[in-house]
Amino acid sequence: MIAERALSMPKSAIRQFFNLAQGLDDVIDLTIGAPDFTTPENIVNANVKASLEGHHYYSSNAGIMSLRKAIAAKFERDNGISYDPETEIDVTIGATEALGLLMMTLLNPGDEVILADPTWPNYITQILMAGGVPVRVPTYEEDGFSLQVEAVEAAITEKTRAILINTPNNPTGALLEKKSVQEFVELAKKHEVYLISDEVYEKIIYDENEHFSPASLPGAKEVVITVNSFSKSYAMCGWRVGYVAASENVIAPLLKLQEGMASCANTMAQMAAVAALEGPQDAVDEMVKRYKERRDLMVEGLNKIPGISVIKPGGAFYLFVNIKELGKSSQEFATELLKQTGVMTVPGSGFGEAGEGYIRICYAKSDELLQQALERINSFVSKEYSRS
Ligand code: PLP
Repeated sequence: MIAERALSMPKSAIRQFFNLAQGLDDVIDLTIGAPDFTTPENIVNANVKASLEGHHYYSSNAGIMSLRKAIAAKFERDNGISYDPETEIDVTIGATEALGLLMMTLLNPGDEVILADPTWPNYITQILMAGGVPVRVPTYEEDGFSLQVEAVEAAITEKTRAILINTPNNPTGALLEKKSVQEFVELAKKHEVYLISDEVYEKIIYDENEHFSPASLPGAKEVVITVNSFSKSYAMCGWRVGYVAASENVIAPLLKLQEGMASCANTMAQMAAVAALEGPQDAVDEMVKRYKERRDLMVEGLNKIPGISVIKPGGAFYLFVNIKELGKSSQEFATELLKQTGVMTVPGSGFGEAGEGYIRICYAKSDELLQQALERINSFVSKEYSRS
C-alpha cells in the first residue's frame, strides 16, 4: 500500500511537459530553470583537487567548517548579516533540501505557510510533505507580480507558522521592493511567525535594482530564515549545494532532520563551493550581463507578437508571458505550441490559479535558440490566431 501523502501529491507541470516532448524532433526547451553556462573553471578545479586529495568522507551534518565560514563571510559582505558559522548555518543539498528540511522543522500537521500564487511548485510539495497547508495569495501583473503585504496579512490565521518570500521570483522574475521586505519583517514579528526568504536568484538582478535581505534588518534574525544556493549564481545546479541560515533555535533541530534525510551535502562539492565564494566573481557578472541581454531580446521580440505581451522583470531568468487575448487556456496554448513548433514552455496554471492566462519561459538559453524560439512562437501565433 502506498501512503496517501505520495498518492495525493500533485504532479509537476514541468515534468508533464517533458513527457509530452518525448519523441518530438527539434525541440527548444524553455522550461527548466537552469543556467545554460557551465560552472566556472576555478570551481571545477577545486572539486577535482578535493577528489584527487581523497576528501571522500561524510562531512558534519552542517557542512565543512571552511564552507560555513565562507558563507558567513559572504553574508557579511553581500547582505550585511552576521551569522555564526558554528551554530547558525547549515549546508544542504541545494536550496531544495534546505526548504524541505525547514518545512519539516517548522510545521506540525495542519500548520499553514503563506506564499505567492503563482509560485515555484516545489514549495507546495515541501509544505505538503511536512503535513502543512499551503495558503496561496494571488499576485497580479498590474503590481508587477509583487506579493502584497496587506494581502498576506489578510491571509494570516492562528495556524500560520511562516510566510515565504522569494525575490527575485520564480516564475515571474518579480522583485520585492526594500520597503515591502521591511514590512514583511514587521508583519512576521507582529504575528510571531517566521519569514522564510528564498534568495537563490539574489545575484541575477538587472538594471538599477539591488537585492535586499530581510535578515539584515535590526532584530530580524529572530523571525527571518534565509535560504540560498550555488545553483543559479554559479551555474552549479547539478552540484546540489545550498544553505539555510537562521538563529540556533531553528538550525539545531533542523540538523537532526538533516542526519536522517541525507547526513550531509557532498563533501567534494562543498569544497568546490568554497572556491565559488572565495574566488573571482567575474564569471557571475558576465553571466548576469548575458542574461540581461537575453531578457531584453525576448521581451522586445515577444511584445512585437500581436496577442501576447510580457512585462520586463527585474531579476531571475524567467518571463511570465500574458496570452489571455488569445482565448486559450495556458495548458492548451503550451501543448499546441509544443506539438506544432517544438517550443517547450510551462503553462502558467502549473504555478497556481493566478498563473492561468500565462506561460513561463526560461531564457537561460543561447541567443540562437532564443531567436529561433521567437520566430516559431511568432509564426505559430500569427497562423493560429490571426485576428483578421
Ligand atoms: N528556490 C527557487 C525559487 C527555485 O526556482 C529553485 C530552483 O529552480 C530552488 C529554490 C532550488 O534550487 P537548488 O538547485 O539550490 O535546489
